[in-house]
Amino acid sequence: MTDTATPHVAILGAGPIGLDAALACADAGLPYTVHEAGPTVGTHVRDWGHVRLFTPWELNLSPRMHARLGDLRPQDGTCPTGTELADLLDSLTRLTPLAGRIELSTRVLAVARDGLLKHEHIGAPERAAAPFRLLLDGPEGERAAYADIVLDCTGTYAHPNSLGDGGIPAPGERSLHHRIIRTVPDTTEPDRWRGTVLLVGAGKSAQTAARDLARLPDTHVEWVVRTDDPDWGEVPADTLPGRQELVDVARALAQDGSDRVTVHTGTRVTALTEDGPNGPRVRATLDTSTGLRELVCDHVVALTGYSGDATLHRQLQIHECYATAAPMNLSATLLGAAGGDCLAQPSAGLDTLRNPEPDYYILGAKSYGRLNTFLLRTGYEQVGEVLAPHAPAPSHALRPQGT
Ligand SMILES: Cc1cc2nc3c(=O)[nH]c(=O)nc-3n(C[C@H](O)[C@H](O)[C@H](O)COP(=O)(O)OP(=O)(O)OC[C@H]3O[C@@H](n4cnc5c(N)ncnc54)[C@H](O)[C@@H]3O)c2cc1C
Repeated sequence: MTDTATPHVAILGAGPIGLDAALACADAGLPYTVHEAGPTVGTHVRDWGHVRLFTPWELNLSPRMHARLGDLRPQDGTCPTGTELADLLDSLTRLTPLAGRIELSTRVLAVARDGLLKHEHIGAPERAAAPFRLLLDGPEGERAAYADIVLDCTGTYAHPNSLGDGGIPAPGERSLHHRIIRTVPDTTEPDRWRGTVLLVGAGKSAQTAARDLARLPDTHVEWVVRTDDPDWGEVPADTLPGRQELVDVARALAQDGSDRVTVHTGTRVTALTEDGPNGPRVRATLDTSTGLRELVCDHVVALTGYSGDATLHRQLQIHECYATAAPMNLSATLLGAAGGDCLAQPSAGLDTLRNPEPDYYILGAKSYGRLNTFLLRTGYEQVGEVLAPHAPAPSHALRPQGT
């Protein structure tokens, strides 16, 4: 149990936003523990480590991180790769007291209120009086931990969306799940991608994949895009050249065609089967604007977005938006904001980050649900907004974790 006079913070996930939350807790003198499912900090960022971010260093690190990095602080305006960002997060962890507070290889399986069920004391202050109870799965097996404030910074990259029409699996998609790649392809080994690649999706990850696969001499890409006339998420007068480049490449591939990429707009995948019993290839049925079409491919890459794991807070009173699956208040603010430029997203403010469940906050990429406009900079602002009211006197001493 925890000492309620000094709230203990559980931070779920040691991605960039979870680590910034840890620094903010340290600055505020709040005791905290970070639970990270992967073997390192920045595990998801390492999973797409070969991808170059389209935002520069200045936007990829929080002011708290910049302040602590000293001479390690990147001075130029370049955009790092995911690996370079994750390496810097590693260094940051070693430079600060964070390391002793991070439980690696420890997955949070579920969170509840100690002694309360989901439907009890609906929206009532009694819920805040009971600590959160976390079920963890770590190196020593399963155990419970307790906290007064929970910051869910678990991201989305481990939970890809289905490739089938309407966002549900296409017939055959589930049984062929082992044949479907749902992460941005690493093309540094071209032989890995020899043959025909069926690429599904139109967002920045799919655009990155199309651009990189198009450079490989022995690869042909059949790129399936759902809408008839995609806008490729273009931001007018985009100030981020890396992001604009992706749009330009996608548009050129769709308009002018290429020997290596065929773009099928207005097309959905309606079925997947193995091409012959235990065959190495996959046969896809496509519903195109001119009728059904069969395609046989060597690789299937589905980049149709990611969404956070809602099972973590299933026993809590979280009001999710029925359209985006983001927390309701934040979702309403984001949907009401004009334009789609993530650099122009409004600062959420503490009230939009609150849930009916007191002291449970969903931050970082997960807080945007299915909206794909999240930027690291926004997550760092969220951290500041949520933790500012909890800052006790500066002289406050850290106490051991509240398990
Ligand atoms: C390919 C790609 C490129 C991107 N490029 C940019 C860019 O250029 N600029 C930009 O601002 N944003 C970019 N983003 C968007 C976003 O900023 C990143 O996804 C960023 O990593 C989000 O940070 P996060 O800390 O919220 O989540 P993540 O980085 O996803 O971190 C979540 C962490 O939680 C851990 N975790 C997950 N589940 C559990 C659990 N149950 N228990 C414990 N730990 C758990 C994970 O292992 C991971 O370490 C990009 C995203 C992708 C996928």
